[in-house]
Amino acid sequence: MIEQVAPDFFRVQIPLPGSPLKSLNSYFILGQPRNLIVDTGLNRPECQEAMTQAIAELGLDLDRTDFFITHLHADHFALTSKVAGKNSRIFFNRPEAEIIEAHTGWEPMINFGGLNGFPREELVAALENHPGYKYASEWVPELSLMNDGDHLTVGEYNFTCLVTPGHTLGHTCLWEEQRGILVAGDHILGDITPNIQCWKDDYDPLASYLDSLERVSHLPVRLTLPGHRSLVADCQVRIKELAEHHHHRLAEIIGILASGSYNAYQTAARMSWDIRCDTWEEFPVAQKWFATGEAMAHLRYLENKGDVVRGERDGVRVYGLPG
Ligand SMILES: [Zn+2]
Repeated sequence: MIEQVAPDFFRVQIPLPGSPLKSLNSYFILGQPRNLIVDTGLNRPECQEAMTQAIAELGLDLDRTDFFITHLHADHFALTSKVAGKNSRIFFNRPEAEIIEAHTGWEPMINFGGLNGFPREELVAALENHPGYKYASEWVPELSLMNDGDHLTVGEYNFTCLVTPGHTLGHTCLWEEQRGILVAGDHILGDITPNIQCWKDDYDPLASYLDSLERVSHLPVRLTLPGHRSLVADCQVRIKELAEHHHHRLAEIIGILASGSYNAYQTAARMSWDIRCDTWEEFPVAQKWFATGEAMAHLRYLENKGDVVRGERDGVRVYGLPG
């Protein structure tokens, strides 16, 4: 489905079968001498068909089309190597290019899960079923790395790269100042909250995310173009709601830890989730993975603030209130 959102600027919905996200919003910006496509989809036939059809319908010549990928998640990145033309440049952020380069498998993540109470067999099952694993890129194309503040001109549009870490380490939005257009990726979503997860040490993704929300809150945004679902009606209002959502979550966790010390997996089991399951045991394993990652991000934030303390029980990290 193709919808025009501004002159020479289109939203293309790329289906994500079986995903609660439903579809990816890819954006096509037509210009001379080169077009730009923002985000592409998973490396699976349903996404490729939708992309190929939109490219044909909008009459894009891939040899004069470049790509900008907001972040490394497979639903944004993985199809790129399949659709890019021979002369396409692929713009991407530096921190995540380094992650891709250093990637040696999922073992560190599985171990980190174990350290946080996530049963190993469950985590392996979750990974094997995850679309980011099943529909990953077959190869990583050559990337043109962009830094915060770099410019990208497409026809009448002059975009500035806005690095907004939180949802991922190097997540980057595109900001078109003159028209007040924010290509938001998964930094700001309308109908759902971007998930903020933590699967390693030395990183506080929730603190980064709240800072990145604050940064964008100062921009005079008139049109917010998110990576999934419907367009965001009012960016400033949505930013307030998203920040509030996380502060509610933090308060909820403090309430949970008031009754005892728990690891991240156990904390996630006690948090409230928007899922049609009566008990934690009934959660699909992929949802447990997602929930535990969220719990860990919030626990890390609280730990860094000194609001919770971390201990260890039988090789597993547990969190409790201080004192
Ligand atoms: Zn994402």
